[in-house]
Amino acid sequence: MHCPFCRHSDSRVIDSRTSDDGLSIRRRRQCPECGGRFSTIETASLNVIKRSGVIEPFSREKVMSGVRKACQGRPVTEGDLAVLAQTVEEAVRQTGASQVDTNEIGLAILGPLRELDEVAYLRFASVYQAFDSLEDFESAIEQLRIDHPREA
Ligand SMILES: [Zn+2]
Repeated sequence: MHCPFCRHSDSRVIDSRTSDDGLSIRRRRQCPECGGRFSTIETASLNVIKRSGVIEPFSREKVMSGVRKACQGRPVTEGDLAVLAQTVEEAVRQTGASQVDTNEIGLAILGPLRELDEVAYLRFASVYQAFDSLEDFESAIEQLRIDHPREA
């Protein structure tokens, strides 16, 4: 396991515990080179049922490419997208399901994307939730204002 901080090719497991649901093992690791600590989670496979009925393995890259479109022209980095995809995967896995549909993935994307960039969130939500009127946008924007009041 490469160190995410310095890319050192080795790391030491300092703690290892099974999650409450028994579906994953979380390992705390430390890099012997830079001393950086990070966690890894070992899990069973997770599949996604597409709208077409096709089943394929969950892919963070697919989450990233879906969100990337909504982020065009926005100050969102590839690193931000990677973190978002990881958050989405963890949220979906926390449900304990071994198979989810694309709808559930879309739902799991909305929350972290809103934290990341509100404009990208509105774009993504407008497609995902099939906004079909200005009122839909207005109520989504109104909700953003309630949850995240702009600092004066
Ligand atoms: Zn390191």
